[in-house]
Amino acid sequence: MTRNELLAPAAIVLTVVAVLLFGPYAVSVDGYPQWITRGTTVADLVTQHRVRAFPGDLHDVAGGLIMPREGGPQLVTVNGSAASSGTVIRFGAVVVSERGRDSVEPTVAVTVETTPTLQFRGHGPVESLEASGTPGITKVVRGAVSGIVLERVVVTPAVPVTVRREPAWPGRKRVALTFDDGPWPGQTERVVAELKDAGARATFFMVGYLATRNAGIARDVAAAGMEIGAHSQSHKLLKHASPAVIRSEISEGIASVRRATGRRPVFYRPAGGSVNAYVFLEAKRENVRVVIWTVDPRDWSRPGTRAIARRVLDNIRPGSVVLMHDGGGNRSQTIAALKLVLHGLKARGYEMVTLSQLYSPPPAKP
Ligand SMILES: [Zn+2]
Repeated sequence: MTRNELLAPAAIVLTVVAVLLFGPYAVSVDGYPQWITRGTTVADLVTQHRVRAFPGDLHDVAGGLIMPREGGPQLVTVNGSAASSGTVIRFGAVVVSERGRDSVEPTVAVTVETTPTLQFRGHGPVESLEASGTPGITKVVRGAVSGIVLERVVVTPAVPVTVRREPAWPGRKRVALTFDDGPWPGQTERVVAELKDAGARATFFMVGYLATRNAGIARDVAAAGMEIGAHSQSHKLLKHASPAVIRSEISEGIASVRRATGRRPVFYRPAGGSVNAYVFLEAKRENVRVVIWTVDPRDWSRPGTRAIARRVLDNIRPGSVVLMHDGGGNRSQTIAALKLVLHGLKARGYEMVTLSQLYSPPPAKP
């Protein structure tokens, strides 16, 4: 025998011993034999997808399914005992997996500032801030994944913004006609001409960007003895707008009208009558009084000249504030109705004045 012939059997024996000591060996995983390498753990079996069961599902805080198989990990037993992810699988082990437990998303708690609510006192179309109120603080607990709100706890209640509504100075047959959404070339001039013919004055709530664009008309309206009011910069509805948008709509609207006419408005009418607490806080800051209306003939819906006139004349009372439109679309019906309205009001003994006249002298405090 040569030296090599002696070494060959020894190499075979060593290899067999090495395989027995360090090589892969058989275990049972979920009823199937599998070869695993020494040192394989429960976590390895799971990540190598060698167990049959899946993780549990992830649910939202309301019990709905958010993500399947993103819940708790598979429950694994080794030789009948619960195993952890780091448990090493020994030779001949019996591994059984079970579906993991469903889990619920984590929750997060945040504190949010709540918009002050609005509270009105009194009656009348002119609305002035009486008390500023304060925002409230609310703790909100919600699902970190779904955002579903689980709980709301008021930490500090909001103090409502209080707005005082005022009627016109009583006892005189005076009304204020108001025209919104101009200046509108070809229409505003005709409204002013009708008013002048009747010896009437009125108030024009101008949209800021239109006053800038039609500054010549805006100036003529003011020069004709009409009162100029502000109607926001771009006619955005403000009820759900952010405080920053509310501030710019009101302040830019006032500035635009002032630049165009040379007069600073003292009345502000929110576009669409759409308000929230911040609108009144901002109006106070800008030193304008908020004014809505008491008579709305819905002239913008073009119900017909006679319908517009009848709706005004049937509802008019001393101190009325009448809402009409010289801009925002075709207002030929409004302009035609205005002649009937002015005639009818005169026949009933009314004087048509500006809002400042109607509210001057100021009403006594209740
Ligand atoms: Zn409007």
